[in-house]
Amino acid sequence: MRKLANVSIKSGPKSLVTPKDILSKYKEYAEEINEELLRMDIFVDIPQYNELLEEIRKNLLRVSKDFTVIYSEEEIENADYFVIYSDKLLGSQYENNPEKFYYTHCSNCENYIDQYKDLIIKNKKINKNMAYNAWEGEMIVSEDIKNLIVTNKLTGIDFRPVYHGVKNQTIIGYQIVVKNILSGNVDDKTILKKTNVRLNCDFESYILTPEYPMYIPRNLLENVLDFNCTKEYFGSGFFPRQYIIVKKHVRDLFINAKIKNAVFEPIFHV
Ligand SMILES: [Zn+2]
Repeated sequence: MRKLANVSIKSGPKSLVTPKDILSKYKEYAEEINEELLRMDIFVDIPQYNELLEEIRKNLLRVSKDFTVIYSEEEIENADYFVIYSDKLLGSQYENNPEKFYYTHCSNCENYIDQYKDLIIKNKKINKNMAYNAWEGEMIVSEDIKNLIVTNKLTGIDFRPVYHGVKNQTIIGYQIVVKNILSGNVDDKTILKKTNVRLNCDFESYILTPEYPMYIPRNLLENVLDFNCTKEYFGSGFFPRQYIIVKKHVRDLFINAKIKNAVFEPIFHV
């Protein structure tokens, strides 16, 4: 795996050169470059990355950076387990009223955890063979995907209907419900940051920064079901959620069926 930096450069009041000057100088080392938006993607493990940062600093430009992990083909092909999620967001009918669907963990916090009602989303329909991420953090799939999962007898997964419309409700998709919780925590090698702790609340949630992979002890994954979730909750804000962990053949099945917007990130072992 390699760490990729998305570097944005801005002029400051005393800058000696323009962001464009720097971008064109380092163009050939960029994985992607956007000269309009003044940003480039560059791997942090090449010497030019540090040179770039040094040059930005010396020329009194401003910089901001985001990181992502890029997995190699080999790492993806060799992985036995994956985190699954969707990068396509679905709006909710109640974006400011999560209490319509969830209880908070306790009266001292605003962590909406326990779902008591089926979700209602803004869209009138959702596309075939598409996976989504609900505003509330749940994974939602089209009916075709539900059928694919049921026909192939995948284990560890249940569904809740997802509706459109508050009064005349129609089912337009299915929320994935995963109940099999891993029996232990992610490995210490996983870089976790605890989210803001609230007074008089025992709920714990973490942030998994996108620049680091997840490590899970191999013994925790022996004899698990096709769909499982982490013991830990992740995310700050109203909707901390557990990550969904699937076996390799779930990924194979999704890829063969050309499911769109489902993302699989390999899990590493120590
Ligand atoms: Zn609480």
